[in-house]
Amino acid sequence: MGLRAVHDPHRHPPAPLHIRLRRHRPGKRLSQVHPSLHLGLPHSSRLANELDIPLFVVLQPFAELDPRDEPVPVVNFGPDGPPRCDQCKGYVNPWCTWIAEGWRWMCNLCGHASEVGANYYSPLDPHLLRVDQPNRLELQKGTVDFVVSDASEYWEVQPPTRLAPSYILPPAPPLLPSSSPSPPTSPPRSSTSAPSTPMTPSGFMALQTAPPPDTRKPTPMPHLFALDVSQTSVVSGFFRSSCDAILLSLYGGIDQDGNTIAPSLPEGCSVGILTFDNSLHFYDLSPHLESARVLIVSDIDEPFIPLRTGLFVDPHESRSVLEQLLQSLPARHEGTLVSQTCLGSVLSVTLAALTRLGGHLIVFQATRPTLGPGALLESPSLTSSSDPDHPITIHDPDAAWENAGEDSQKPASA
Ligand SMILES: [Zn+2]
Repeated sequence: MGLRAVHDPHRHPPAPLHIRLRRHRPGKRLSQVHPSLHLGLPHSSRLANELDIPLFVVLQPFAELDPRDEPVPVVNFGPDGPPRCDQCKGYVNPWCTWIAEGWRWMCNLCGHASEVGANYYSPLDPHLLRVDQPNRLELQKGTVDFVVSDASEYWEVQPPTRLAPSYILPPAPPLLPSSSPSPPTSPPRSSTSAPSTPMTPSGFMALQTAPPPDTRKPTPMPHLFALDVSQTSVVSGFFRSSCDAILLSLYGGIDQDGNTIAPSLPEGCSVGILTFDNSLHFYDLSPHLESARVLIVSDIDEPFIPLRTGLFVDPHESRSVLEQLLQSLPARHEGTLVSQTCLGSVLSVTLAALTRLGGHLIVFQATRPTLGPGALLESPSLTSSSDPDHPITIHDPDAAWENAGEDSQKPASA
């Protein structure tokens, strides 16, 4: 069926074309998805050229599975790891082809022919398919998860040196959960220290004694929750709801609708809490403490991390500390008169904390950040304008946010 577009360009713009694409289900080739497209797209190149309808596709990697989908199978090749293309490092998949009587395979991504290891060899049938194909999920399913080996091939690449603050020892242990009491920290910061690049805090303790290695072994991902404790956030109830949501995600519970919620963070991860308004509040969550110890950093232009241990903890080992903190924080900030926040400083210290770990920053932000690196200030000439045709312009003169975004994408960064 073709597409008949009827509209009067002088009266109405053409209606947008809505096409619902089904997610590519495991094991289904793209050709099996095509019938769902035929309802809304021309079926021939000639018709497509005549209509000239632009086509776009929104892809969501690692999307949540639909309940109707079969689970993604897990394939374990043991210590050797999954076969990969010698040239592009693509993984073996259903669209690879097999040559040389099964001793080589052609990568469908780059066309390179790689050797088949002795452990993975299988003879071919008359159709040049491996005879063991029916038993190989990685050769049948469009989506599989591979268990990878401990080989350094899968280790993380270390970030650029400029992103690794010298006061955090490589590779990672200083900020990981520690069972020993944390030493006194928060050394005094000299006001004469050298200025740092925006969004990249400079070191205040030269503890680094050796250059970091080029790679690091992958570790479970740390999650840092950063919560806005400005007046707007607290008065609106946003801050209290944020604390409740974090507790729910950490330990599960019953939500407002009476539904049972399971913990949503994976086993083995570590978590940290950071609150901010016109300063940064770090929390030592070490499990041996009766309650979390708070350390406040007011230097938001060149922020630093005042903790060597206890910033990231196992949420189950430190459960009592975390629960007590998240339940008491809303009352602690009740009546605050601080209205400004420094989100750019949060990104700076997050990058510093996670640069050699990788990790995940989850920000609960209720106000526009008007302090610190990347402060978003209103244009003076337009601030008082109430004309809806001339909205207030927010200036970002030093592109600090763009830089922070790029730095966060660097290997082993947040
Ligand atoms: Zn390849």
